[in-house]
Amino acid sequence: MLYGLRDLRVEDIDIPNVEAGEVLVKVKSATTCGTDLKIFQRGYIEKVIRLPTVFGHEWAGEVVEVGEGIEWPKKGMRVRAGNSAPCLRCTMCRKGKYNLCEDMIWLWGAYAEYIKVPARTVLVNMQEIPQHVSYEEAAITEPLACVLHGAEEADVKLGDTVTIIGAGAIGLLHLLTAKKKGAGKIIIVDLVEERLKLARKLGADETINAGQENVVEKVQQLTSGYGADVVIEAIGLPGTWERALKLVGKGGTVLEFGGCPPGTEVKVDAELLHYGEVTVRGAFHATPLHFRKALELIASRTIDVRPLITRKMKLEEINEAFKILSTTKSEIKIAIIP
Ligand SMILES: [Zn+2]
Ligand SMILES: [Zn+2]
Repeated sequence: MLYGLRDLRVEDIDIPNVEAGEVLVKVKSATTCGTDLKIFQRGYIEKVIRLPTVFGHEWAGEVVEVGEGIEWPKKGMRVRAGNSAPCLRCTMCRKGKYNLCEDMIWLWGAYAEYIKVPARTVLVNMQEIPQHVSYEEAAITEPLACVLHGAEEADVKLGDTVTIIGAGAIGLLHLLTAKKKGAGKIIIVDLVEERLKLARKLGADETINAGQENVVEKVQQLTSGYGADVVIEAIGLPGTWERALKLVGKGGTVLEFGGCPPGTEVKVDAELLHYGEVTVRGAFHATPLHFRKALELIASRTIDVRPLITRKMKLEEINEAFKILSTTKSEIKIAIIP
């Protein structure tokens, strides 16, 4: 059991002071995320988060204070903001690769009563939440934004057979997105039966329990010996990255979506890339445009994220929430209510 490697506490801290251009939001709901769990269990790239810190990054709430010079948003407005804001000036931003910005501002601190949103984030990555959308749903904008970016890279076409490894929140969001993109058949792989059950409920055509079945053989069988057109790895382990390469058919695309620990190397069969013309792609994070689209898709229920919130817990129970996520695997997302 990995739980306990990191020290997570609920503490009283001062409500942040709001400076020019900044916005203070009362957090109404913050959802748990695999990334938080990973950081909690094993740490993360220093660039993105420096511990100790207030934790959590998927949230939505109500504006309670605005800094000098702010015309939008207004006090009382229901809002969400992304956990990143690109600089719009660096080489990557100039290439339009805003998710790879070299001077990104990251925003942590969702598991708290209040969160202060930096001026740049207010400007490039904050949105008003439509009245009919709950705070819990709006909090899921962030993972959906990442999935939309990944989906563009995976480029699922009408009628494609798609295999998704992992039926956690990210795998399930990929499932919902691939369905909307017109996938013909979606096969989803996981070790946890409850998750596979939910995947079937959300539209997976076939599910494979990797603990009970030979995944490579089963995918071959379900694709008439051909392999999938698109394979999406949504776990973030070297073993599953390599497995993804074994499930794809000739001319297909593998999207390695789950982040592995820095320094991880994986084996790729050169024959697969050359004679099989397989494309292997990675995807990291999302751009402000993906965030905007994600909230719109949630609001129109084109992508209905409500079934992914499997439990609600109070902020004081945050340790218990991560313990549950670490051990049971049956919960998808827990909404933390301050
Ligand atoms: Zn997240
Ligand atoms: Zn930049």
